[in-house]
Amino acid sequence: MEYYAGIDLGGTKIYTVVINPDGQILGRTKIKIGEDRGFDVVFGKMMECYQMACTEAGIADAQMTAIGLAVPSPVDLERGVIKHAPNLGWKEIEIRSVLQQKLNKPLFVGNDVNMGVFDEYHLGAGKGFSRVYGLFIGTGIGGGYVVDGQVVRGVNYTAGEAGHIIIKMGGPQCNCGLQGCLEAIAAKAGMIKYMIEQVDKKRKKTLLDQIAPNWRQTVGSSALSKALKKNDKVVKKALKRSAKAIGVAAANLITATGVEAIIIGGGVIEEMGDFFMPRIEKSMRANTFDNGSVGVELRQAALGDDAVALGTAWYVRMPENQYLLYT
Ligand SMILES: [Zn+2]
Repeated sequence: MEYYAGIDLGGTKIYTVVINPDGQILGRTKIKIGEDRGFDVVFGKMMECYQMACTEAGIADAQMTAIGLAVPSPVDLERGVIKHAPNLGWKEIEIRSVLQQKLNKPLFVGNDVNMGVFDEYHLGAGKGFSRVYGLFIGTGIGGGYVVDGQVVRGVNYTAGEAGHIIIKMGGPQCNCGLQGCLEAIAAKAGMIKYMIEQVDKKRKKTLLDQIAPNWRQTVGSSALSKALKKNDKVVKKALKRSAKAIGVAAANLITATGVEAIIIGGGVIEEMGDFFMPRIEKSMRANTFDNGSVGVELRQAALGDDAVALGTAWYVRMPENQYLLYT
């Protein structure tokens, strides 16, 4: 029997699944990354998470056929280098040689949201389409572009980074150094900035002061959802603005790429899909050139927390991707 592992290395946690060749999940493990995000410490936790998932699946490491790792960064596939993961504070990490030494198996390292969208394409909300674009909304915004079953990465491995499509020239400063990126407006970090402005400059009040006192630094999607349910005007305005901006980006993607479906996922959408999806759709339809969105589907992601890890395991399992594996 062949077995494949997919490891989703996030900004705060590591999530691993082990699958059989049918894509059935045999083992699933999650562990938290602590305060120390140095490469050696995180790598150690990653190995621990992988071993635990193997144990849960009832297999020994020696039985593993291939392993995929997804990271929150563009990845230079040829050199095996994690280019820039701001959430972990990593830059230019040569992961290939380290992994080969420790694991001694066919390996692949890819961008996390690319893998999540790849998964949705083959096993989730994108099934049945030939060209899809996915946007995952959380603290930041990741994306992925899949055509005829393959991830499109671009000359410098930045294709699919839809969070950095500029939708407002001269707009808010983005963490990436550019201005007016989708992420700087529509992701949680962008919402926080906007809400601080509303409260400090326009003297508005928000229930977040009670629900999530630390909201100026970081705010959970569940806290935003709670405030929204209590009809908090500041939160509602920030969420509406975010949905509108995501719709504009989706419209631009339709015009630029000719995709058949746009998939929207991530923590913010999982928590508040009912609020977001109709508003994103309205904005997307209104901003597409010459009714270009007619017949294009807007779908909510279907695979939840499993998407990235499962997608990565599935990626290393597929025969057509074997040439990309480090052996
Ligand atoms: Zn940016």
